[in-house]
Amino acid sequence: MILFKRAGDLGSWLEHQRKAGQTIGFVPTLGALHAGHISLITISKKSTALTVCSIFVNPTQFNDPKDFQKYPVTLEKDIPMLEKAGVDVLFLPDVAEMYPQGTTGLETYDLGPLETLLEGKYRPGHFQGVCQVMRRLLEMVRPDHLFMGSKDYQQCMVVQRLLETIGLPTTLHRCPILREADGLAMSSRNVRLTPDQRANATAIYRALTAIKTGYPAQPIPILIDAALHILEAGGFRVDYVSVADARTLEPLPGPSPDGAVALIAAFQGEVRLIDNMELSL
Ligand code: AMP
Repeated sequence: MILFKRAGDLGSWLEHQRKAGQTIGFVPTLGALHAGHISLITISKKSTALTVCSIFVNPTQFNDPKDFQKYPVTLEKDIPMLEKAGVDVLFLPDVAEMYPQGTTGLETYDLGPLETLLEGKYRPGHFQGVCQVMRRLLEMVRPDHLFMGSKDYQQCMVVQRLLETIGLPTTLHRCPILREADGLAMSSRNVRLTPDQRANATAIYRALTAIKTGYPAQPIPILIDAALHILEAGGFRVDYVSVADARTLEPLPGPSPDGAVALIAAFQGEVRLIDNMELSL
């Protein structure tokens, strides 16, 4: 595995590989890696010649400064995990490399309703930060294929829109959610849960499963109420439970032939967790 800290060095090395006909897969991360991240790398390795992974805790996507300060950094564990997974290139830039002009007054993107729905509503500015960092990373790596997790369902939609806006010929692959044995979606934030919170956290999976089981037979408001009860009984403070159109994320009034997804964001103590499940008719 080759490690680059400078975008210029990474760009020249990749250009050389591109000219030699190698296809490039890219897995961007914030680090604190777990098996969910590694699953994206495994998928990339199956379909591309070279897999590039980045670790960068992007300050501009944290709407809550406390969340940024407490974001786990575990590079000494991450690097051997990436080597074992067979990553070819690790890009490890610092803030000055990504934002040479600083992080204030950056460009903004028109994200349409994605900006104000769900994560957009509860984490104002978050997706602007995601676009700011993803644009820079994508222009530095110029991947043929980009691998991102369905766990961040709305983020995948935002990045798809970004790719169309900036006109890069990169194909985005939305990959399955990896879960712990008890159903909790793997997340870098899970390490911040106390043992009691960790035990309670399965309520998200139980709530999503209850929605999936009841859909489409039961009315959506009843399904949402039942999910809220499960979450509150598990000690969660809920931001949202939504049954939404899978293409737009607008709330669904009733079952849809065009695809539906249940999405939840909720706090266990100070730790905010998100998860989702696609629903079938
Ligand atoms: P993060 O480091 O949290 O920004 O995540 C980096 C990438 O890994 C994103 O595309 C996430 O959607 C994806 N990811 C995070 N958790 C999981 C998971 N449990 N299963 C699959 N992919 C995941």
